[in-house]
Amino acid sequence: MTNMSPIIPNWIIFATVGPVGERTFYLQCEGSDTLYTYKMEKQQVVLLCDQIGNILDDAPRPGHLPDETASFRPTDDINFVVGTIAVAYDVALDGVLLILGDIEFSSENLDFMSSLDESSGWEVLSEAIDMDRAAQLFLSREQAAALAIMGTVLAKAGRPPCPLCGYPLDPRGHACPRTNGHKPPTR
Ligand SMILES: [Zn+2]
Repeated sequence: MTNMSPIIPNWIIFATVGPVGERTFYLQCEGSDTLYTYKMEKQQVVLLCDQIGNILDDAPRPGHLPDETASFRPTDDINFVVGTIAVAYDVALDGVLLILGDIEFSSENLDFMSSLDESSGWEVLSEAIDMDRAAQLFLSREQAAALAIMGTVLAKAGRPPCPLCGYPLDPRGHACPRTNGHKPPTR
């Protein structure tokens, strides 16, 4: 175990600031009345969203995705720039654990790990990342699924494939057949 308890966000979003081609990507969430903002590279967003899609493939099917109504709150108070990222489905807790390492304390710019079972869990992750300099976020499967779709829409141009189901994502919305949505995907 680590000495940090994970952030359990009320909401979590990706956002971009700036004109196309010069956009800065942020991951922002709120938990326990605290706002957390992390700066990321577009490539990290793409890989993280794909990885969330992969791990959800092996997890129980997400239910209705949250209607994300939160909008980005611009702030100069960035927690840190993200370096190492680890993401895993935690079987015991039935949720997605996302660990963001501060780039200043990361040995690798991108380092994804997705194999996590209930026995090894936290210790495996804490060996690879300086946990005192990392943020731990614990997301429901639905939050993670919605986040992956949101990040993919933002980071990829046009109608990119959904990281969960592979159908094209429509900017107007996507009822993902890999979740318990009622509508078929918009084509
Ligand atoms: Zn989908």
